[in-house]
Amino acid sequence: MRRDPLGYLSTDLQALRDQGLYRRLRVLDDEQKPRTSIDHRVVVNLSSNNYLGLTTHPKLRERALDAIRRLGVGSGSVRTIAGTMAIHVELERRLAAFKRTEAAVVFQSGFTANAGTVASILGRDDVIVSDELNHASIIDGARLSRAAIKVFPHRDVAAARRIVEGLPPGQRTLLITDGVFSMDGDLGALPALSDLAEEFGCIMMVDDAHASGVFGEHGRGTVDHFGLHGRVDVQVGTLSKAVGVLGGYVAGSRGLIEFLCHRARPFLFSTSHPPAVAAACLAALDVLESEPELIARLWENTRFFKAGLVRLGFDTGASESPITPVIVGDAALAMRLSDRLFDKGVFAQGIGFPTVPRGTARVRTIVTATHTREELEFALDAFTAVGTELGILG
Ligand SMILES: *Cc1c(COP(=O)(O)O)cnc(C)c1O
Repeated sequence: MRRDPLGYLSTDLQALRDQGLYRRLRVLDDEQKPRTSIDHRVVVNLSSNNYLGLTTHPKLRERALDAIRRLGVGSGSVRTIAGTMAIHVELERRLAAFKRTEAAVVFQSGFTANAGTVASILGRDDVIVSDELNHASIIDGARLSRAAIKVFPHRDVAAARRIVEGLPPGQRTLLITDGVFSMDGDLGALPALSDLAEEFGCIMMVDDAHASGVFGEHGRGTVDHFGLHGRVDVQVGTLSKAVGVLGGYVAGSRGLIEFLCHRARPFLFSTSHPPAVAAACLAALDVLESEPELIARLWENTRFFKAGLVRLGFDTGASESPITPVIVGDAALAMRLSDRLFDKGVFAQGIGFPTVPRGTARVRTIVTATHTREELEFALDAFTAVGTELGILG
């Protein structure tokens, strides 16, 4: 018999199939747009994080092309050796100004920004107090740090307080929450957590991946939205979602940023962005300043679509953002809902364990500024038909 030391992987994959959690990747044949061809079918796309349509914005395309012509396609090194180009430094200056902090540092992704930061600023004697629904990159960073991890129930600030109160005086502690939770679309309890952090001398950190470009003046994020400037020590953002390109960043004090440049492992050991990525991000920041109507339209579309799903009678959870889940509970049903919507010309991804807790499987919808009213009405009609067909709607 042929030796197959990886045979157990097939067993695990079969288990996923049995639970209805096996997913074939859907492939876009065209650009990332509100209506685009996926798996050779033109569909209304409700699964993209391209909140403002910047992935195809002419100004971003132009600046990226110009950077390729002037500066080439790669950066050639990690940041700490020869991979820091003037355009990276310019982007970091702009991001610090955007977030109203002293300094900022860019990482290859939001994932590496979170994981690299949490893992480097904390060590084995420290404690991390984390919302149970925080992003995987925070969880991985926490594990890598070797700090003790204490999880509080979602948005339960009283529970977080009980954890913090139980720690020895002077215990170095990080309080951490997502700004917007990516699978539920609700907001982290940032104001109350910031009060708690101040009362007990904790470090306060927010992951604003889904909030930057969406919440706050010109999309500055939840710290701006809640009026908490100067009270959140570590702000992570992504350049991959509303900004429309790729990357992550940390904004905070000069001391924090200098430390990350010396200790955050993705910064030290993985090559920096191609200059075209930095150029496109700079153009995106210009667009956030000069075209505030994009964010206004995003919110108009959000209100319209969310109200439509609620009126139809779907369980949309506690969403307060352009992310609206349609929660059905059973994973196989969520995947079936997603597949039938796709047949009807709407792409909304089904999501199950481990991305969301067992029993809360859902189809997640995200509207963008660039969806037309007609596209959103088309999608609501598809939800009506499929929701009725599958017995989700009464
Ligand atoms: C998407 C996401 C990230 C990761 O950002 P990338 O730039 O895609 O790596 C981190 N945190 C949250 C909450 C996210 O939703």
